[in-house]
Amino acid sequence: MHTQKTVCLHQNTKAVEMPQGSRHWKALECARCGAHLRFLPWPEHAQQRKVNLRKLVWLFRNATNAQFTLEEDMFLDEVMESAGRLSPKHHEKFDTLCAKHGVPSNASELLERSAR
Ligand SMILES: [Zn+2]
Repeated sequence: MHTQKTVCLHQNTKAVEMPQGSRHWKALECARCGAHLRFLPWPEHAQQRKVNLRKLVWLFRNATNAQFTLEEDMFLDEVMESAGRLSPKHHEKFDTLCAKHGVPSNASELLERSAR
């Protein structure tokens, strides 16, 4: 199905609830003309991405490159490019890699604390 791209230059947006069972959390629409702008991710997904990225930072800070195999190195590049958005399979791989290199499960909170 082809959907036409709406051009909307209005400033105000509103978040519209999605029907239950939707894969998206909310849809962001123009408050004036109702043009669909984008979907908003579930807050827990956004949180998970944040945690993934923090773990990645932790890995780069605390593990030296010499400890990564070439495959791991390439995989971490992928994780970085996806901005922490991982498929369940990649997520499992990432968690395994983090565990192998000693990333604490609360790495996210540790970094948050040290950033203050
Ligand atoms: Zn509009």
